[in-house]
Amino acid sequence: ANGQQQQTPNECVQVVVRCRPMSNRERSEGSPEVVSVYPNRGVVELQNLIDVNKEQRKVFTYDAAYDASATQTTLYHEVVFPLVSSVLEGFNGCIFAYGQTGTGKTFTMEGARGNDELIGIIPRTFEQIWLHINRTENFQFLVDVSYLEIYMEELRDLLKPKQSKQLEVRERGSGVYVPNLHAINCKSVEDMSRVMQLGNKNRTVGFTNMNAHSSRSHAIFMIKIEMCDTETNTIKVGKLNLIDLAGSERQSKTGASAERLKEASKINLALSSLGNVISALAESSPHVPYRDSKLTRLLQDSLGGNSKTIMIANIGPSNYNYNETLTTLRYASRAK
Ligand code: ADP
Ligand code: MG
Repeated sequence: ANGQQQQTPNECVQVVVRCRPMSNRERSEGSPEVVSVYPNRGVVELQNLIDVNKEQRKVFTYDAAYDASATQTTLYHEVVFPLVSSVLEGFNGCIFAYGQTGTGKTFTMEGARGNDELIGIIPRTFEQIWLHINRTENFQFLVDVSYLEIYMEELRDLLKPKQSKQLEVRERGSGVYVPNLHAINCKSVEDMSRVMQLGNKNRTVGFTNMNAHSSRSHAIFMIKIEMCDTETNTIKVGKLNLIDLAGSERQSKTGASAERLKEASKINLALSSLGNVISALAESSPHVPYRDSKLTRLLQDSLGGNSKTIMIANIGPSNYNYNETLTTLRYASRAK
């Protein structure tokens, strides 16, 4: 759409890297830390201890970089809050958590139990949305939530898991929609929390190994906010998509069944097609290859145009994951 603006970096795409702390296991195994984060410069350095013949340090620069000491509150206020504010003005937005399994995607998006500080991005958006709604006069708001996952290039409704109809992405004008996808109207923070919990519970239904399943599927939490100005009678719509992506690790080919190899190639397809879309948008390229995967088709009207996108690339600090970390840092810098 932005044919004339080629080569202008697109400020609507933001890439941030977050490095989690060393795990107890990594500590006890004595795996050295190879990641250095310089938060005030958005710089991440990766040290190569494996091959002494290679360059020892790889340096990457992003819009922002967060180290193990960065709190959920800081990340939310610096990165997420402005995007949700623009959704509340009628823009569309996407936030992706990308990275190898075990690097903190779910911690970042949903959070962890323990104390309020550990609450992740998705529940924090509920608070921001309802604080805004309750403070805004002369507007009527309609908030609808859908929750689905994409597994093996197939859509599955997490709010109606037993639905037998195959869900498909359709296009209508400049928008996309999914006929028969369940949407639940919410009237409070609590309503939205209940919907999230219902979807999370349904995500495990029918899978004996929940961790393996969740690391191979993309979970997409969609919030649609309709705002009616009751004085002028004008309507605006903002859509917010919060995505916990499948693990980016290379699936091991040794001993994998035909089914697992097919699964692996579909995961790679979706992640590489997302990378291609985001880098095309970041470069303001005239051709954005939305059609290559279900994920990018589904999010087509929330990626590009007037929409804002945040990619949070999660990494671990230890030498043990050097190769996957390098792959993630490269993927994230391509998206820039
Ligand atoms: P993923 O969803 O990418 O597989 P998880 O979010 O499940 O990874 O994180 C793996 C483990 O690391 C979890 O126990 C999680 O609580 C912990 N963790 C991840 N990021 C952080 C962080 N920034 N601070 C503290 N613990 C973290
Ligand atoms: Mg996870």
